[in-house]
Amino acid sequence: MSYQVEYSTSPIDMRSLRQKYQDQEKFMAYCRECPRYLARWSCPPLSFDVGEFLAPYASVHLVCAKILLDEETIRAADTAEKIKTVGWDIVSAVKLDLEKRMLKLESLVPGSLSLSSGGCNFCEHCTRETGEPCRQPDKMRYSLDAFGFDLSAITKDVFQIEILWCKDRLPDHFTLIHALLTNEPVNKERWETVGLSG
Ligand code: SF4
Repeated sequence: MSYQVEYSTSPIDMRSLRQKYQDQEKFMAYCRECPRYLARWSCPPLSFDVGEFLAPYASVHLVCAKILLDEETIRAADTAEKIKTVGWDIVSAVKLDLEKRMLKLESLVPGSLSLSSGGCNFCEHCTRETGEPCRQPDKMRYSLDAFGFDLSAITKDVFQIEILWCKDRLPDHFTLIHALLTNEPVNKERWETVGLSG
């Protein structure tokens, strides 16, 4: 299993991001079809007002991870089960690594907050399934998806990358979008500290 990850970042003001890319009604319909709906604390339905949650942050630093799969990895996943398993393993590993970098970046930028992708995978069984509080609220970050952002459009417009999906083979690349919500610019040194370039 072999792959490379290319990271890129792009700042955008919160108002523009919400105006151009947020449609809660449309994307909640997709979320309701997802097995993580009501099953992860990072996912919808959220227990707070999305507008109020985002309001304190003027800027959003989008972070894109483009995961390039090598030909042999794609070729070796020659059954539906392997495609699903290998795809999940690769995306999960990169997501976990990016989440750690973003938590580190948060600690370097006072008042910032990161948002993740997909549903939280920190625990094997999420406590939302049993109605108990999140076990790791210090690490769990809400997904951009949960706020109704159009990640396909963001990926295409901002990073010029088309989102690809597993079909009868693994795709040439996967894409993850995370974000740091802030009220201030993030300087180059801070990005570099977490292995990203701003
Ligand atoms: S940290 Fe654990 S309990 Fe909290 S949302 Fe993630 S999986 Fe669920």
